[in-house]
Amino acid sequence: MQRYSVLTEKNPREIVLLRGKGCRYKRCAFCDYHEDASLDEKENLIINESALSQVTGVYGVLEVVNSGSFCELGEDTLALIVETCSKRAIKTIHFECHWLYRNFIPQLRERFAKIGVTVKMKIGVESFDYDYREKVMLKGIREADPEKISADFDECCLLVGLPGQTVISMKNDIETGLKWFDRVCVNVMVENTAPLQPDNLVRVAFVEEIYPLYKDHPRVDILLHNTDFGVGSK
Ligand code: SF4
Repeated sequence: MQRYSVLTEKNPREIVLLRGKGCRYKRCAFCDYHEDASLDEKENLIINESALSQVTGVYGVLEVVNSGSFCELGEDTLALIVETCSKRAIKTIHFECHWLYRNFIPQLRERFAKIGVTVKMKIGVESFDYDYREKVMLKGIREADPEKISADFDECCLLVGLPGQTVISMKNDIETGLKWFDRVCVNVMVENTAPLQPDNLVRVAFVEEIYPLYKDHPRVDILLHNTDFGVGSK
């Protein structure tokens, strides 16, 4: 498993894929990547130390992903992230977090602000169509208003290429994301072991009709494959 990468294009940053105790929610109908988890905090720390030791601070920006939310990382790992930021002069750190844990975000922001690091928090919204998101994707965000969802978060992830989505709905999701968030990360659904699987025609429609419109947009990242950031399993 590749756990460290450097992104040199848009929004240059280093990225680490760390391991925590696992997603508490685990109900998203499209997801099986919460399997990269262990309750053995010592083993997790060994893996995480190895990934974090590769951080150089080249861009002063670090993104931490962990197949879940930052709250599911052990305290030893969080302390090591803080230490790494100080040692490598990181000025901005990106984390991800499910809606469930939003009340823990201010505390994390304060913790990093004390060492001069700004936290950018990303939420997997997947879609702003409430019914689709909550009845088909089973995302667990009981809030329909994008402005309210964005209140605690800086960035959002969207998921495209699923049955029932259209060019209009996918474009509308990206535009809504751009209106309420600093950055939007669009993931194109790939086959996995989860119950909800991609629709190839929708994927092709995205790649042909939407991808060209946003591929060079400075606030949009598009992952045509979920390992495009250089971390995860190939
Ligand atoms: S998408 Fe995120 S919140 Fe949903 S089950 Fe997977 S890891 Fe958990």
